[in-house]
Amino acid sequence: MFKIGCHLSSSGGYLAMGKEAVRIGANTFQFFTRNPRGGQAKPLDLDDMRAFEEYRKQNGIISVLAHAPYTMNACAKDEGLREFARNTMADDIMRLNHLEGALYNFHPGSHVQQGVEIGIDYIADMLNSVLSEEQTTTVLLETMAGKGSEVGRSFEELRAIIDKVELNHKLGVCLDTCHVYDGGYDIVNNLDGVLEEFNRIIGLDRLKAIHLNDSKNPFESHKDRHEAIGNGSLGIEAITRIINHPLLRELPFFLETPNDIDGYQKEIELLKSLYK
Ligand code: FE
Ligand code: FE
Ligand code: ZN
Repeated sequence: MFKIGCHLSSSGGYLAMGKEAVRIGANTFQFFTRNPRGGQAKPLDLDDMRAFEEYRKQNGIISVLAHAPYTMNACAKDEGLREFARNTMADDIMRLNHLEGALYNFHPGSHVQQGVEIGIDYIADMLNSVLSEEQTTTVLLETMAGKGSEVGRSFEELRAIIDKVELNHKLGVCLDTCHVYDGGYDIVNNLDGVLEEFNRIIGLDRLKAIHLNDSKNPFESHKDRHEAIGNGSLGIEAITRIINHPLLRELPFFLETPNDIDGYQKEIELLKSLYK
């Protein structure tokens, strides 16, 4: 089954997102757990979550992907910022545990001149203090473009984080097609080779979701600017190969392309027609 959705605004709550997804032909979606550039989350609305779970099952929506705010930097230099990241993630996971099999994606962080090793240590420290055996939410490290001092540009860095986390059976990876291409993995000309490398270094069993984006910039540009499907440097042929690849085709795909809701609806329609 083709699992396809896009990023939706969470301002109306879970049930509203579920209905919006169904309306535009999606069977999953992504949303921000709170203002992506702020901190405060809305009060927990368990009635809305229960109503959504019921609606989800009746309408064939598969489990959803929550995205942590961008302001969260687990490897900031300042202890106060690292504490904010820790508290935010703990609170987000506690909330998401009310949904069945939720995925929670976050940007590993930016080491801001401290060096990648220290960055990796701080990120693993946060995960070790936040993850619990009881949680039902799977936490995903997102592959990054390598802009500035971003940690998670290489598969080796993600592997190093996973290796330092005790409860790493609660961890997975979300592969962002724009980010990995910008980051220097040639998924346009050598998708098989990149997936082989991913499998050798991280293990394909860790791959739980794909952010499906085209890129405004050329290969290895380390820029992280998403483009609409087919209009960027990846192109429609590479994207068609990605959604149909035997190792990827059963994963959920999430669009984060520059689009309004009608644009997302059209892209979902297009991608469905390209899925064999
Ligand atoms: Fe992201
Ligand atoms: Fe992404
Ligand atoms: Zn991005």
